[in-house]
Parts: sequence; C-alpha cells; structure tokens
Amino acid sequence: MLVIDGCYVAAVDAAGSEYPDGYLVLDGDRIAAVGAGPVPPQYAAAERIDGSGLLATPGLVNTHHHLYQWITRGYAADDTLFGWLTTLYPVWAGLDAELVHASAAANLGWLALTGCSTSSDHHYVFPAGRGDLLEAEILAARRIGLRFHPGRGSMNLGKSAGGLPPDSVVEKHDDILAATQAAIDRWHDPSFGAMTRIAVAPCSPFSVTAELMRDSAELARASGVRLHTHLAETIDEEDFCQETYGRTPAQYAEDLGWLGPDVWLAHCVHLSDEAIGRFAATGTGVAHCPTSNGRLGSGIAPVRALLDAGAPVGLGVDGAASNESGRMIDELHQALLAARFRGGPLALTARQSLHLATMGGARCLGRTGEIGSLEPGKLADVALWQVGGLAGAGIADPVVTLVFGAPALARLWVGGQPVVSGGGLVTADPDELAAGQAAASARIARRIQAGT
Ligand SMILES: [Zn+2]
Repeated sequence: MLVIDGCYVAAVDAAGSEYPDGYLVLDGDRIAAVGAGPVPPQYAAAERIDGSGLLATPGLVNTHHHLYQWITRGYAADDTLFGWLTTLYPVWAGLDAELVHASAAANLGWLALTGCSTSSDHHYVFPAGRGDLLEAEILAARRIGLRFHPGRGSMNLGKSAGGLPPDSVVEKHDDILAATQAAIDRWHDPSFGAMTRIAVAPCSPFSVTAELMRDSAELARASGVRLHTHLAETIDEEDFCQETYGRTPAQYAEDLGWLGPDVWLAHCVHLSDEAIGRFAATGTGVAHCPTSNGRLGSGIAPVRALLDAGAPVGLGVDGAASNESGRMIDELHQALLAARFRGGPLALTARQSLHLATMGGARCLGRTGEIGSLEPGKLADVALWQVGGLAGAGIADPVVTLVFGAPALARLWVGGQPVVSGGGLVTADPDELAAGQAAASARIARRIQAGT
C-alpha cells in the first residue's frame, strides 16, 4: 500500500472533484482511496510519498499512434499528407520485427515520460517475411510497462490496384482476416485490468477494399473487440469520397458498418453537422490529434461541436512521422489552442482538455470503468506532475500549469507499478532505448538506399 499526500488532486470523476491539499492511496493495482486533507488514520502504516508541489492526475490515455514511425521521423517535413505518404511507404517497406521492437520500446518509453499510462497503436504495415511485427510491439509495451491497445491493421489496395502503398507492404484479404483472428486469440485480454487488448484496425477505408472493411467489422464484433481506423483527415479525402462514391467519408463509413459504440476513429477533421449527429447518436469515438493535424495542415477538428453533441472524444499524438515531438502532455495544450483557433476563447477549457486526455480516451477504448479517473476501485494509473519550481511556482491553479504551461512529470504508475520515478524511466534505460532507436533509424535508411 502506498500513500501520496499533500498534493493537488484532479480526480476527473463525474463531479469534477479536486482536492487542493489531497491524498491518494494505492493498494496493489487499484486505487483504494482519494480525498481532501490528511490521510485517514487506517493508512498511517503505509509507505508515504510527500506530494507537496505536485499535481496528481489520472495517467493520460493516447488514442491514436503508429509506434513504428519513431525511427522514421523528419522525412517529408514540408509536404502534404499524400506527398508524405508517398515518400514514406517505401521507407516503411523496410520494417522488420527487430526494427519495430526498437522503435516501439523507445517511443513507449518517451510516451511514459510525458504522462501516458495507456497507449493504443495502429500498425498496418506488414511486409512479408519480416517476422511477427505485432508481437514485437506488444513485447515492447510489456518491457516499458504501459497498458497497451494495439490495432492489428491492414492494407490490401497496393499500387497495382490503384492504391498508394507499394505492393510489397499490402496483404491479401483472407491472410489479413486470419492474422487478425490469430492476434485476438493470442493476445486479447478482456478481463478487468488487462494490460493488452487488441483492436481491428484497417489503415483507412481508402487503402483497403470495402469488402475488407465490412469483414473486419464483422470479425471484430464476433470476437468482442473494438474497431479503429483513420477517417475524414483531409479535404483530399472528402473530395475523393464524393467523386468516387457520392458520399462523405462518414456516410461511407456508416455504409460499411463502421459507426457504433465499439468504434473510434482517428482525426475526423472534416465532418458535416449531419456526421457529428451520427457520431453522437451511434456513440462513435474520435481520436483528436491536433499536433498531427497542424503538422500536415489538415485542418482543425470540430471538437466543441462533437462534445456538445455528446460524442466520445479522446486525444492522440499520432505517429511520430507526423508529430516528431510525440509528447502526450503537449496534446492537451494543442487541443486547447486548436479548439480556440476554430471556435474562439470559450471553445475549450483547461479542465475539458484534461478530460479529453483521460476519461475521453478511456471512453474511446471502452474502459471507463477501469481507467481515466482517480476513483476508489479503479486501476492505479496515476501521473504526478511537478507544478512548482520554474515551471509553475506562482500559478495558483495547477491544472492551468498542466495544460497551458510546461510541467515536468515526476512519477507515473501503471496498475500500481512504478514506470517513472524522479522524472526518469525506471523500467528501461533511456540511453539504451535511444541507442536502439538510432541504430534502427540508420538500418532502415541503409535498407532504402540498398533497395532491399
Ligand atoms: Zn494515424
């Protein structure tokens, strides 16, 4: 049992409870108690951490990512989404299991250092004969100690079939479904407190066939796992969809069975009022990725309207190739700025931004009973932020420091296990991760030059 006292607690529960001089009790993998004032006497014997100058929040939930991209940062820095993809697909064709492990471990270590306790991943590049890439990233998540929701992605429309990716990174329809089912059977854990849950995640409705989208949804629902893909990211996609199908991307997704309470979709920048209504009515979640949308100039997602309509909205860093900094805490700040660029000064508050990054993400991942808030009985996924010192001394409201400022992470627990302590990673050596990442980046670049 562990007690943290004297800290500011932002619980992010339904009542929005905050305790300026609060305490938190962790018991094994669960939160045992949260409250104001001194710790109740029954916890007097527990190990104690002095929380003065610290803010306790739920661990942050990252709802969209591509971990393999950590080793391919900096390519096509000033290009459009399509130009960027065309540059990077041949690079990603060089991936193998070892490179994915190095990339994922380094990236998850970095995410942990920025307050993230649960991350999803969307992996859709599976070059033939390069080992088990999904296993490689799941083992990386176990090494770092983060709760992990990998999406078994796919592409089956290669260049020769009119798609963007080279044929070497696309797979056949039946092979994709078989591999996805095998991934669910091997890794998916539906139990309370699970560290690994699989999602079914074709890359986008435009890099796979309609048949694969439909069959993927059917497979996911038969297995009780969630569905994830990219949608409505750019105006180009909107135009393509209207010209090809006479439908908006959201209408097309709904035709394919891809709106529903078990679906969360990345980006959703270009949504009509009708689409926003459909997302809310069906409980379809949105992974809002403001940094990535800015990096690629895709536009600003209608987050205020989605929230007003009642749709679930979480935050995502997106792949590092379109968000080189990849810091989870930064997305709270970016979400706030993006919402205000679009909708004015009242479009999003600091507390609403924190809600998106915690309970909003938990809702997207179907885990509101387990993570996303600091409440007794929930999992002990807790971030402690340094809101004093140069970063925040003198700011009366620690949540303002968290979202508008630049707080440092002091500690992070996932399921009661320490992952970050004293501002440093405790589950792996960051220098070793960085060396692995540098070697992997160099190796994939050499592979491109050699054309292998
Ligand atoms: Zn993405």
